[in-house]
Amino acid sequence: MSRMPSIFLSHGAPTFAVEPGRLGPLLTALGARLPRPKAILVVSPHWMTREVTVSAAEHPETIHDFGGFPAALYDLRYAAPGAPMLASQIVAALRAAEFPATLDARRGFDHGAWVPLMHLYPQANVPVVQVSMPVATMHDGGGARAWALGQALAPLADEGVLVVGSGSLTHNLYDLRVGDDTEEHYAREFTQWARRAVTQHDQSALLDYLRVAPHARRAHPTPDHYLPLLVAAGAADAQGNVEVLDGGIEHGVLAMDAYAFHPAR
Ligand code: ZN
Repeated sequence: MSRMPSIFLSHGAPTFAVEPGRLGPLLTALGARLPRPKAILVVSPHWMTREVTVSAAEHPETIHDFGGFPAALYDLRYAAPGAPMLASQIVAALRAAEFPATLDARRGFDHGAWVPLMHLYPQANVPVVQVSMPVATMHDGGGARAWALGQALAPLADEGVLVVGSGSLTHNLYDLRVGDDTEEHYAREFTQWARRAVTQHDQSALLDYLRVAPHARRAHPTPDHYLPLLVAAGAADAQGNVEVLDGGIEHGVLAMDAYAFHPAR
């Protein structure tokens, strides 16, 4: 089986489920073009736990973990099966990499996972496992721990598992202006910086983003939606090619880019 890429994607607002914008069709085309994964492993900041936890339900429910959105969003279901056997294997791989990890037999898919997967694999016929973000990744100042989590997951790519870090390339909800698409300059500048750092495999810049990226603290007042990028980059083949999916900027400030980290071989 050939090695799978890893992916970072921006999951945007929950409305992304029904408003595909620019990124939705690009994700659908990417999913159709990639070798079919054995399973998808998603790390989303909407599941944060003390230690890493891996979802092991056979038929995970769709969690509508958001409030105040149109009723139609609450009727949506992403019916992909879980992969309990794989979940146990992931726990073993994480423990071997010194991440104490446990299984959660009941956890479903949060919107950071199912919303973008509706575009990437609309048929929901590939098993999905979610891996939580350990709280410690939030407090190590940079993202070394998130990167290490990606590295711990990297061997799964050789077994046909598609590792997805789901976040948001910029994520300042205080600046959000629904219905006004006038772009904030900082979101564009941060996006351009990230594209350059990612395509050049500039690990030190990506880890040191708070110091070296333009407007880093405005683009990410908290690191939670940036860290999945480090997980995906940490899981990537550093010799490989990075494909940029230009998702544009929504609501003036929400950069929707995605990256596919293709393996070299
Ligand atoms: Zn989110």
